Amino acid sequence: MGFYLLGTKSFWAILTVVFLRYLVFAVLAFIVFYGVKKHAWQFWKIQNRFPLRKDYVREIVYSIVTSFIFAGVGFAVFLTPFSAYTQVYYKVGDYGWGYLVLSAILIIFLHDTYFYWMHRLIHHKSVYKYVHRVHHLSTNPSPWAAMAFHPLEAVLEAGIIVVVAFAFPVHPLAIGIFLLFMMIYNVYGHLGYELYPNGFSKGLVGRWINTSVNHNMHHQYFRGNYGLYFLFWDRWLGTLHPDYDDAFGETTSRKKP
Ligand SMILES: [Zn+2]
Ligand SMILES: [Zn+2]
Repeated sequence: MGFYLLGTKSFWAILTVVFLRYLVFAVLAFIVFYGVKKHAWQFWKIQNRFPLRKDYVREIVYSIVTSFIFAGVGFAVFLTPFSAYTQVYYKVGDYGWGYLVLSAILIIFLHDTYFYWMHRLIHHKSVYKYVHRVHHLSTNPSPWAAMAFHPLEAVLEAGIIVVVAFAFPVHPLAIGIFLLFMMIYNVYGHLGYELYPNGFSKGLVGRWINTSVNHNMHHQYFRGNYGLYFLFWDRWLGTLHPDYDDAFGETTSRKKP
C-alpha cells in the first residue's frame, strides 16, 4: 500500500513537470507570436494565415493525453523495480560533471537519429493513419502542436527515454537538460515563424541544423524533411524538400510592409 501511494504521488509529480514544461513554453510563444505581436509580425509568418480555434483546442487536448503517456513511461523507467535494469545513476561524482554535460549532448544526437527513423517508419502507408495522422492534422502548426500526438505515436516518441536509460550511464539531470532542450526546440519547430537569420540554411553550420521553415514544410507537404534537430539524415538520404533553401530565403528576407 505504501509503495502504491508513493508510486501514484510520483506519477502525478512527473505528470505535473511534463505538462508544465509544455505549458510554459507554448504559452509564452503563443502570447507573443499569436497575441501581442500577431498583427505586427504577420508579414513574417511562414504561412500567412493563422490556424482556427478548433486547431488549437485539438493540439492542446492531444498534448494533454501525450503528457500522461510520457509521465507513465518516465515513471516505469525510473521509479518501478524495472529501473534496476537501467544504467541510470544518481551521484554526479560517479562520472563527473564533464561526462554529465557530454551525455546530455549525446542524447540530443541520439534522439535526432531515433526520431528520423521512427518518423520515416510512421509515414509508411500501412501505419500512417493509425499512428501519425493526428500530428499532421495541423497543416499550419502552432506552438500548441509541440506534443500533439496520437497516443500510439506518444509511446514511440517516449521510446527514446527507454533507449537512453539502457544505452549508457545517464544522470537524471542530463535527461532533464535534454528534455528541456527538446521542448524548446519542438515549440520553435511548430512556432509558425522563423527565428534563424537569412542565409542560415546555406551556411556551413546552418545547413545541418533543422529550422522552423523546414518542419513547417513537413506539415504543409507531408513528404520530406523528417529530421528533428539536425538535417544530417535528410541531406544524406535525399529526403530534404527540394524547395527548402528557397522557402527559407523567402521567409527570412521579407520586409515589414
Ligand atoms: Zn510526419
Ligand atoms: Zn510536427
